[in-house]
Amino acid sequence: MNKTGFFFHADCSLHEMGFGHPESPYRLAAIEQRLQDSGVMAALLRREAPQAPIADLELAHGRMHIASLRGLTDGLRDEMQAGGPKHAQIDPDTRINVHTWDAALRAAGAALAATDAVMAGELDNAFCAVRPPGHHACRDKAMGFCFFNNVAVAALYALERHGLQRVAIIDFDVHHGNGTEDIVAGDARILMASFFQHPFYPFGGTTSTAGNLLNVPVPARTAGDAIRALVSDTWLPRLEAFQPELILVSAGFDAHREDDLGQMALVEADYAWITQQLMEVAARHAKGRLVSCLEGGYKLDALARSVEAHVRVLAGL
Ligand SMILES: [Zn+2]
Repeated sequence: MNKTGFFFHADCSLHEMGFGHPESPYRLAAIEQRLQDSGVMAALLRREAPQAPIADLELAHGRMHIASLRGLTDGLRDEMQAGGPKHAQIDPDTRINVHTWDAALRAAGAALAATDAVMAGELDNAFCAVRPPGHHACRDKAMGFCFFNNVAVAALYALERHGLQRVAIIDFDVHHGNGTEDIVAGDARILMASFFQHPFYPFGGTTSTAGNLLNVPVPARTAGDAIRALVSDTWLPRLEAFQPELILVSAGFDAHREDDLGQMALVEADYAWITQQLMEVAARHAKGRLVSCLEGGYKLDALARSVEAHVRVLAGL
């Protein structure tokens, strides 16, 4: 059995983007419930996420972007006290409420604290059950339900603050991690590997020429056998050659066949298999160090089952 951290914070459930929005607090509740009911939670080391320090967010984001989210939150609070609306719109899919700033700091803070814990050897690996997600957040722009890029912040933090030389970011969300690409493209210390449904939101990922990106577009309806072949044939050889000292995972579960926000056809066993492959790379090159952060996944039952499958492998259950 591994020492696997489960990072969370109550603030992450206070951020919400309006009635019926798929990126809802119910997602975290469904994950918690499933891990409790299945007995998996008892095997995890629960850690409350701290707030990310602003100086660490600035490793991946511009000062104006950070200040603008804080300013929007303060403005919204003032307006609400004057009887105004509960939300402020960022893009057609993305809104803030008065708790978004705190939730976003906790989500990034979870990734940082988990990185500290695996670097210290206090944990073998960790899963951050946090929201808002991060992989669409660009250096200077919030979009696609994301405000701060939790995984990119953690990657740069591991390089700058822990002195690592090579960090891998793996993204198995159904959507292309355009924000992560925006922040890490051209940084040879980071290898980003992903697959993503294409053509699909956010309609990029196929044109970058940066040598540190291995983002593989796949058509709608792609299922587990094709994804396992893709991982074996493309990701794993690149990871083996790169020899990451830490693996960060943008763990989105919206490529599940039951998820309505994507049209791919993965199942729980595929997430378990991918997780196992990543852990073997981490064992060979990174002393097992792996930090996984929740991204998408919107069909609550499929999300909860997929997270359970992912975390079971992390914990060695
Ligand atoms: Zn997604």
